[in-house]
Amino acid sequence: MQNVLHTPIEYLKGVGPNRGETLRKELGIHTYMDLINFFPNRHIDKTRFYKINELQRNSSDVQLVGKIVHFKTVEQKRGKRLVADFIDETGRMELVWFRGHKWVRENLNLNVPYVIFGKTNWFNGVFSMPHPEMELLADYKKNLRTAMQPVYPSTELLQKKGITNRAIMKLIQEVMKQSGLRFGETLNQEIVQELNLISKSEAIFNVHFPKNQELLAKAQFRLKFEELFFIQLQLIRKNLLHKRKIKGLIFEEIGENFNRFYKEHLPFELTGAQKRVIKEIRSDLGSGAQMNRLLQGDVGSGKTIVALMSMFMALDNGFQACLMAPTEILSVQHYNGLVELCKELNTSIYLLTGSTKTSDRKEIHEKLENGEIDILIGTHALLEDKVKFQNLGLAIIDEQHRFGVAQRAKLWKKNSIPPHILVMTATPIPRTLAMSLYGDLDISVIDELPPGRKPIKTVHRFDSNRLKVFRFIKEEIMKGRQVYIVYPLIQESEKMDYKDLMDGYESIAREFPDYQISIVHGQMKPADKDYEMDRFLRKETQIMVATTVIEVGVNVPNASVMIIESAERFGLSQLHQLRGRVGRGAEQSYCILMTGHKLSEDSKTRLQTMTSTNDGFQIAEVDLKLRGPGDLMGTQQSGVLNLKIADIVKDNSILSTARWYASKILKEDPDLSDEKNRYIRNAFARLMKDRTIWNYIS
Ligand code: ADP
Ligand code: MG
Repeated sequence: MQNVLHTPIEYLKGVGPNRGETLRKELGIHTYMDLINFFPNRHIDKTRFYKINELQRNSSDVQLVGKIVHFKTVEQKRGKRLVADFIDETGRMELVWFRGHKWVRENLNLNVPYVIFGKTNWFNGVFSMPHPEMELLADYKKNLRTAMQPVYPSTELLQKKGITNRAIMKLIQEVMKQSGLRFGETLNQEIVQELNLISKSEAIFNVHFPKNQELLAKAQFRLKFEELFFIQLQLIRKNLLHKRKIKGLIFEEIGENFNRFYKEHLPFELTGAQKRVIKEIRSDLGSGAQMNRLLQGDVGSGKTIVALMSMFMALDNGFQACLMAPTEILSVQHYNGLVELCKELNTSIYLLTGSTKTSDRKEIHEKLENGEIDILIGTHALLEDKVKFQNLGLAIIDEQHRFGVAQRAKLWKKNSIPPHILVMTATPIPRTLAMSLYGDLDISVIDELPPGRKPIKTVHRFDSNRLKVFRFIKEEIMKGRQVYIVYPLIQESEKMDYKDLMDGYESIAREFPDYQISIVHGQMKPADKDYEMDRFLRKETQIMVATTVIEVGVNVPNASVMIIESAERFGLSQLHQLRGRVGRGAEQSYCILMTGHKLSEDSKTRLQTMTSTNDGFQIAEVDLKLRGPGDLMGTQQSGVLNLKIADIVKDNSILSTARWYASKILKEDPDLSDEKNRYIRNAFARLMKDRTIWNYIS
């Protein structure tokens, strides 16, 4: 049986070398099996007839019975359209043609019942169906037909080569015939029973040619579950193997540094979430396996103190630690912050960045190697080969999406036994997605802000209200606050954006002649940027006009107003990151989203989300729904998009279930050697061997 399914596609009746080539190139279909696993996007449900008064504004293709009572031609900007009044006993709608008017008029009859089929639009209270499929009711009754028709994804080239939807259907039917409609089971009895799954064969058949909606749903559920299950199985297994194989440094002690700091120098009570995460890290560091942990926490949730206390754990066990940040400014801020926190302890902390002087650099290299440095903070400069530690025990990476996997790997090599790795990010990723993206990392979440934070007030204002906004800026500056004004800078239209920024700067300079204004954008030299940032930090300037270069991590607690110009052009996560630049001090902070009046539906949703919540995870969920996972950081490389049937966003709960089972099975039977898991073992082995879904999990 499996042999039939592994036959190269060109041998299938109706394919041949030419079409075989096209199927391989366009759809990645190499074998019969691949074809069977090529699933329809949707099905046309012809089991049901709708009445006009039942139509929904966003319904998909529908089928109705009724009569055309009238034709008219409507002139429009380009060409004409032919409109037919179509009625049934419940109401009236329109059928519309943009082409082929003559044929329609000559061939369609008035006042005779037709079965029509197609997609409906809704405009001004009237439903219309452009270019409907039409058949006389009398003829319709004579023909036999499949109830639910699959619609497969297609491409222009497939169409051109005549590989139509109907052709694909036929090919799949042919494979089903040849394989005797038997497809080997892939899950174990327990899962099938507990989740009440239909068999693999039934699922395959019904996902293509369902007898009814219910069977289709069952087939889809089973196949989605299976797909996600095997991915999770792979991820969890990799993580387990990693823990078994990669020996980690064992930090047994909680010692002097940690305890003294905790008892005497902690500047505030830790939040529950911070305590929980510190415990999770503590347990990793003592486990004997190398830690690879992702710490997610919204801007301002207090990741730094968690980082510091983790580094103390390394120090207390005689190891060094390092903290790497993506920019010079951030490194300096971390350095200053940590030096301040540790001022009563004799921890030796150094800073190493691209602009560290050669002589200082030499000193740092030496002190690192002879163990005089406890904590090294810096930028990419830390990754250079010349930077050698005496015994690096823990490496922390802040704002991870700016660093790649390759850089993580470089840190690994800084010690003979790889150091523990903690990656911190303020870009919240919904948990389920994170599980798929970073399957090889364990995940901790700080989901609680320190107490007493005043939530940032966010409002949406139209450009026409600019004067009021300017007045508000003045009031805030008079109170001693500072203000950010951010302009979009999007690569494609860089020139125009740049002009917007400069125009904005000039009009602000005119509007506020008494204030000092900093400007920072991507085309400036790093040194000039830093100089301007520094002026703002030292309160020499009151207003910072900038592009999104200020997005990451900058900390100016006195800045309390964030104005975002052309806010409709920013993505949600970016808006949220920008907003996170304010609200860092004791004062009430504000975020003002400026836009014109013309807004798309998506833009409106984004603005509404921003004005209604400060919760980064909630925002990330909306973002994911709006954009799909494709645009999210990291998803491209990891290929979460290559899923055949499951949808990482919509099938969230199936994913959780799949993960739960995968983890349970591997806990009981890590090598899948138990007889009852033989189907899973075989299916898994086959998937690992084929170039199927696995090649994306690096
Ligand atoms: P982020 O997670 O964005 O890196 P930080 O670590 O910079 O956040 O913390 C943001 C601010 O909150 C800092 O000023 C820090 O001192 C303060 N902070 C952190 N944890 C607490 C806490 N438990 N209670 C009060 N303030 C805290
Ligand atoms: Mg931070």
